[in-house]
Amino acid sequence: MKFIEEFRDKELCQRVLAKIKSYGFPAIFMEVCGTHTVSLFRFGIRQMLPPTIKVISGPGCPVCVTSQQDIENALALASLPNTILLTFGDMMKVPAKSGSLERKRAEGADVRVVYSPLDALKIAKNNPDKLCIFLAVGFETTAPATASSILRARDENLRNFKVFSLHKLIPPAMRAILEMGESKIQGFICPGHVSTIIGAKPYRFIPEEYGIPCVIAGFEPLDILQAIYMLMDMLDKGTSDVKIQYKRAVREEGNPLALEIMWKVFEEGDAVWRGLGYLPSTALKIREEFSDYDAMYLLKDMPVTEAEENPLCRCGEVIRGVAEPTECPLFKRVCNPSQPIGPCMVSSEGTCSAYYKYAPS
Ligand code: SF4
Ligand code: SF4
Repeated sequence: MKFIEEFRDKELCQRVLAKIKSYGFPAIFMEVCGTHTVSLFRFGIRQMLPPTIKVISGPGCPVCVTSQQDIENALALASLPNTILLTFGDMMKVPAKSGSLERKRAEGADVRVVYSPLDALKIAKNNPDKLCIFLAVGFETTAPATASSILRARDENLRNFKVFSLHKLIPPAMRAILEMGESKIQGFICPGHVSTIIGAKPYRFIPEEYGIPCVIAGFEPLDILQAIYMLMDMLDKGTSDVKIQYKRAVREEGNPLALEIMWKVFEEGDAVWRGLGYLPSTALKIREEFSDYDAMYLLKDMPVTEAEENPLCRCGEVIRGVAEPTECPLFKRVCNPSQPIGPCMVSSEGTCSAYYKYAPS
C-alpha cells in the first residue's frame, strides 16, 4: 500500500477486525506510545474490539513521565536571572508545587515555546547576552536532534546555549513495567517513531526473557488493527517474537546515523520516572566531554523546591497501566485540559487527556 487513505480503508479494517474476533480467547495488550493512545481513541478502535481484548496505555508520553522533581528543577532554571528557558508547548502547563512554566512566564520569567532544539539554538545565537536553556524532553525519537544541536553549538562555539536533558529510553521502562508485574500484559504494541531510530533489536529481551510478543506498529487504524492481529496470532501459536508491522518506516537495525549522533553526545544515566520511580540506566545524560552545554551543572548550587505529588492524582498508576483515568476521583470533576491537576491531562498524548477528549462519559 502506498497511500495513507489505504490505511484507513473501512473494508480492509473490517476484514482484519473479523480475523481478530475469530480468536476466542481474551488478551491484554499495552500500547507504549502516546500517539497510539490517541489513535486508538480517535479512530474508535477501542470500541471496535471485542470486550475480551483490552488495550491499556503505557508510559509513552515524555511529558507524563517527567518526574515532579524535574519539573521543579526546570522551574528553578527558569528563575535564573538573565535567562531564557526554551521548551515544547506541552511542558508549559505541567503543574508542580511551585507553579508551572506558564505561571513563571506570567510572573515575568522569559520562558518560550519552541518546536525543535534547532529553534532553541537560533534563539541562543540571537541573544548572545542571555543564558539560553533548552529543556529537552522525549525518548529516542527526539534525542538525536537534541544531540545535533549540542554538536552544532560546539562547532559554532556558542557558549550561552545549555541543554537540560530529561531524555529517557523506552525499552528499559518496558522492562520496569514487566518487573512490577501489576498489569497482566500479554503483548506490547511498540512505539512507531522511537522504533524508526532504535529498530527492533532493543525489544528482543521482552520475548526472550518474558515470553511476551511485541509488534512495532504505525499510527493509522489499519496499522494498529494489524498489530493486534499479529499479537493475537503469536499468542494463538504460543510463540513470541518482535515483529515489525510498520515496515514502511522501521528497519530491523533502526537508523544507525541518528543513533551514532545520539550516543556521541549522550550516555546512559539514572532517571526518576513519574509512576515508575528510580530506574538506573534509563536516562540520556550529556557526556562529560560536552559538560559546557549541560544545564544540569547549574542546578548544583541552586535552591530547588522539593517536589510534592498531589495525593489524589493517579497519573503514576495510569502510566503503569494499572488504573484508567476514569478511576481517578479528580477526572473531569476537578481535572480537565484547561485546568490540569496531573501531566496525563496536560499533554495532547497523555492518557487522561485522550480519555477526556474521546471516551464516552
Ligand atoms: S515519541 Fe513518537 S513513538 Fe514515542 S511516544 Fe511520542 S509519539 Fe509515540
Ligand atoms: S485525571 Fe487528572 S488528576 Fe487524575 S490521574 Fe489524570 S491527570 Fe492525574
